[in-house]
Amino acid sequence: MSKTILVTGGAGFIGAALIRFLINETDNRVINLDKLTYAGNLLSLKDIEGDERYHFIHGDICDKTLVCQTLKHFQPDFIMNLAAESHVDRSIEGPSAFIETNILGTFSLLEAARSYCLTLSDEKRHGFRFHHISTDEVYGELGDTGYFTEESPYLPSSPYSASKAASDHLVRAWSRTYNLPVVLTNCSNNYGAYQYPEKLIPLVIMNALSGKPIPIYGDGKQIRDWLYVDDHVRALYCVVTKGEVGETYNIGGCNEKTNLEVVTAICELLEELALTNAYSSNEIDGGFSSLITYVTDRPGHDTRYAIDAGKIARELNWQPMESFNSGLRKTVIWYLENQAWCQSILSKPQNKPFSQNKPSE
Ligand code: NAD
Repeated sequence: MSKTILVTGGAGFIGAALIRFLINETDNRVINLDKLTYAGNLLSLKDIEGDERYHFIHGDICDKTLVCQTLKHFQPDFIMNLAAESHVDRSIEGPSAFIETNILGTFSLLEAARSYCLTLSDEKRHGFRFHHISTDEVYGELGDTGYFTEESPYLPSSPYSASKAASDHLVRAWSRTYNLPVVLTNCSNNYGAYQYPEKLIPLVIMNALSGKPIPIYGDGKQIRDWLYVDDHVRALYCVVTKGEVGETYNIGGCNEKTNLEVVTAICELLEELALTNAYSSNEIDGGFSSLITYVTDRPGHDTRYAIDAGKIARELNWQPMESFNSGLRKTVIWYLENQAWCQSILSKPQNKPFSQNKPSE
């Protein structure tokens, strides 16, 4: 039976991919509550804008009155909370928005959901889920070996990851104390189409195409696990529909790469695709990789993250479908074909990217 799903942060990178999936590949109704910060972009949802199963509400998750009204009016079966401040470097420069949205915003949603649940029939309350979407960065950094599991201790390093860790704790406490039926997911780095061009992969593509330096933090040996965003979205849908109440699921792509490997792979793809298909007229002496420039590492930069996604594979039968090579190729082609999307975002003064010298993964 079709469900009504309140997605918060649905104009962001992952939220928009989730909503496109929900509208195009399921018969569910979707309510998108988004504040439209610099990272929110309704252009990412242009293809489904007119669909009668899709509703957009411009608002802040910290506004509990608005959240309560939205819940009362639309009577969702699931809340999927993706609204967040998500950029690590911005969190170092100005942590307060991270505390407000990631911690107080989650608190406001939890309280609204708790009141809402009291109004539901037993049957509807039984099926209701509050799904909190989080990051593997809450676990801190790994040494050269080992993986984050759902039992790994929390050891966040940045204001961003600390604020996400705090929100995860609140969600678990509302489950334990108030019996709110929650599920949580912690995922590794996502990549794919429509990612705001201040994050590593789109930033490298855009800088390379315009012949600007491609910044790499420190020695570029920091390791991240990369997951194609559409695989993440399928995992989220699996968890919200089939996950066990109160449980956490780690989601990852089994694609550990150093930042330097990622950047080099993008440069090679650009050599192959951009010049031969006339997406760029900027032939760079020495190739795009000659633009790579090492910049001072950011404070508290974790050296390695890696996810053990065994639990979601075993219990919910989810596996990533996209290999890193094919996902990266699709992503590079998308950015080459959609440079206008990036330019339209970057042309608005309020959307200024944080810095073209800060290659945040
Ligand atoms: P994003 O920055 O691209 O989008 C965030 C969205 O939230 C934007 O549309 C923004 O307008 C909206 N928003 C911000 N503050 C809000 C508020 N107070 N009220 C309502 N809306 C608000 O982020 P993303 O990359 O799509 O990440 C989504 C979630 O997934 C975040 O919780 C993030 O921590 C988590 N996550 C992201 C990654 C990744 O690699 N991008 C990996 C793991 C987990």
